[in-house]
Amino acid sequence: MDLNIQITKTTAPKAKPTDESKLGFGKIFTDHMFLMDYAPETGWANARIVPFGPIPIHPASTVLHYGAEIFEGLKAYRTLNGDIKMFRPMENIRRLNNSAERLCLPQIDEDFCLKIFDTLVELEKDWIPHQEGTSLYLRPFLYGNDESLGVHAVHHATFALICSPVGAYYAEGINPVKIAIESDDVRAVRGGTGYAKCGGNYAASLRAGEKAEQKGFTQVLWLDGVERKYIEEVGSMNVMFKIAGEIVTPKLTGSVLPGITRKSCVELLKEQGYPVSERLISVDELFEAAENGTLEEAWGTGTAAVVSPIGWLSYKGKEYTVNGGKIGPVTQALYDELTGIQWGKIEDTRDWCHKVC
Ligand SMILES: *Cc1c(COP(=O)(O)O)cnc(C)c1O
Repeated sequence: MDLNIQITKTTAPKAKPTDESKLGFGKIFTDHMFLMDYAPETGWANARIVPFGPIPIHPASTVLHYGAEIFEGLKAYRTLNGDIKMFRPMENIRRLNNSAERLCLPQIDEDFCLKIFDTLVELEKDWIPHQEGTSLYLRPFLYGNDESLGVHAVHHATFALICSPVGAYYAEGINPVKIAIESDDVRAVRGGTGYAKCGGNYAASLRAGEKAEQKGFTQVLWLDGVERKYIEEVGSMNVMFKIAGEIVTPKLTGSVLPGITRKSCVELLKEQGYPVSERLISVDELFEAAENGTLEEAWGTGTAAVVSPIGWLSYKGKEYTVNGGKIGPVTQALYDELTGIQWGKIEDTRDWCHKVC
């Protein structure tokens, strides 16, 4: 599949943000976006880059009624020597297709998808901020677009890519967060859509997040939906613990999102000689470790923050502090290593960074 990407440039380019410390996350969008349409008769067609703006949608469109939507999130960075790179974009593209398969949405050719990312990022390269920690966040999304209320697998779909310049996640330093372990709501169940990056998972997770925020917590730690006992993820990040020298992260049971940062951390930690175990870990085991002093570190992993140290955990009225509420050495080293590779400060020996231009 190699469609021609038709480019229509905006005649009204927007002013680029001048204060890179005020970018925030996902609030500003670039001048252009990518769109293409899928129909059974034609396959993917009408690949185009057009001025950024509203997308017309039929009121009966599948996505509005039955939630057929998946997305991805990745970043394009300006490296120290001025190259523009993306971190492991093929991993995002493969995961997009895995998510699509789960939601009966059409597959996209991997190489063509990378070409879409490259073409739009190169066109928008002046929107990529310069300060360390900033980037151009790419949000590809794919949704079912049948103009009918009948419930069935999707026949028509739209794929889109929008880009947003984002600020440094840790503009005020890496501060550990307070986490509430959620005992009522669950994010996903085995056999459901937990491993797919779909909007519906997020819709179902908002209530617990709101509740936790009202009580002064930053994020929710999710337990499995069957036994309400095994740790799955933290907010919209994967989670890792260092317990008695061993790195433990929940295994990918189907209800856990297979994070690319998670995978990269596991690979780096194994190379550095840490014992890494992907297995079930119960909340009881975690608190036992917290009580007997063997819970050394805890952190979340994800594209936006890279790593996010956990300083406090709360469950059914009990509170635990991890590493005195400070970022631990392994968490810090992972952050330095991953961002170092991304920013071109550390040699990219694993070919993780893809050069756009
Ligand atoms: C995207 C996402 C992650 C992190 O994945 P990365 O590929 O590391 O960004 C973790 N959990 C959920 C629920 C997610 O949606």
